[in-house]
Amino acid sequence: MSGLYARESRSVSKMAHLRFFPQAIVGGNGAYVTGDDGRQLLDFAASWGAASLGHAHPAVRDAVNRALSDQAGASYLSAANEACVLLAEKLLSLVPERARGRVWFGHSGSDANETVARMVVTATGRPRIIAFDGAYHGGTVGSMAVSGHPAQQGTRAKGLTLVPYPNSYVAGSPEAAKDAALAHLERLFATEVPPEEVAAFFIEPIQSDGGMLVPPEGFLEAVEALCRRHSILLVSDEVKVGLGRSGRFNAFEHAGIEPDIVVFGKGLGGGLPISAVVGPEPILNHAVAFSLQTVHGNPVCAAAALAVLETIERDHLIENAERTGHALGDALRGLAERHALIGDVRGRGLALGVELVTDRTTREPAARQTALTVFRAFQLGLVLYYVGVRSNVLEFTPPLTLTQGQALEGAAILNQALADVVAGRV
Ligand code: PLP
Repeated sequence: MSGLYARESRSVSKMAHLRFFPQAIVGGNGAYVTGDDGRQLLDFAASWGAASLGHAHPAVRDAVNRALSDQAGASYLSAANEACVLLAEKLLSLVPERARGRVWFGHSGSDANETVARMVVTATGRPRIIAFDGAYHGGTVGSMAVSGHPAQQGTRAKGLTLVPYPNSYVAGSPEAAKDAALAHLERLFATEVPPEEVAAFFIEPIQSDGGMLVPPEGFLEAVEALCRRHSILLVSDEVKVGLGRSGRFNAFEHAGIEPDIVVFGKGLGGGLPISAVVGPEPILNHAVAFSLQTVHGNPVCAAAALAVLETIERDHLIENAERTGHALGDALRGLAERHALIGDVRGRGLALGVELVTDRTTREPAARQTALTVFRAFQLGLVLYYVGVRSNVLEFTPPLTLTQGQALEGAAILNQALADVVAGRV
């Protein structure tokens, strides 16, 4: 296996993929990955959050091996398997009452959000959708159609209205950010967008690709109240920050809100491709009309997802995300005292962001230094990536199994990387 990867790694540049990581990975163990040069790197990205239990977790490996041998020669046809039935029951028990209807399985966060976008419009007969500026709901045409990330301009649906996501750092305070965002929404409903035409409001309970923005207290509650007042379906995209990462099972729980539809992906399969949409029966029933793909609800991926959910519970990984997230957050705030480049440290649990600026007063984005920091960290043995509508936020989505020792080890490497960037040593 590793020989095959080693051969392929020489032509890694031939692949038509984002050059996020400059070499092929040949192995992984827990919070570490091994590059094709044999180097071990501490992985604070965890495959953009997909490797929720870390790499080569025995629970996932055993579940996959078992499912592969049990299912050999059996049908892989569209979720018609026991693992999906069990997984659907489990997921239904983990969402609010109002979302406890049916479950649709897909391969990725993108196809799940795309399915939601199509279902809500068809089911309600309302043509409009609201989402946030900076929101990343996927990379397929239908999911980009309801996204607001700058990378997705030109693909947006005609019925999509984007509204500002409160940015406490840029606004100067959480209150100012919340008031401005809510005033915009009220104005919009009073003028341009008749609320009775809106099928759904897509939220990210922490806007991750937009810059790891944590909404101010009371903001999502106010959005929920608006949705209820106008019978608009509230959709929580938990793809990146859900499933325990934020220190709660669902990240929307921090706001005490109850979405109608919950979307899971990434970490659900612990790295294997599976996503899920959970929501009311009258809405979800519309999925069958247009969202049939052959190996949706693949039993091997569903078995991995069951193992992931069991392990999160058994090993108290939500508590670990909360506790280790605090330790990592404290370490990052410590770095902010040493590096003027750090403008803000924010996040929840093990979904953290560090915004880099050239000037703390004007908050000018330090996009070049951000990219250089990611590269220098990679050279020094730490896998990171960056996000944000201004491309200046280092994002931390390590495995939920991260230890406090590993959190400090990563922070120490980042300290060195930042010092090297500032000193021009990269
Ligand atoms: N939703 C959110 C919040 C995401 O962060 C992402 C990916 O980054 C997606 C959806 C799309 O998921 P996928 O890349 O698995 O299609």
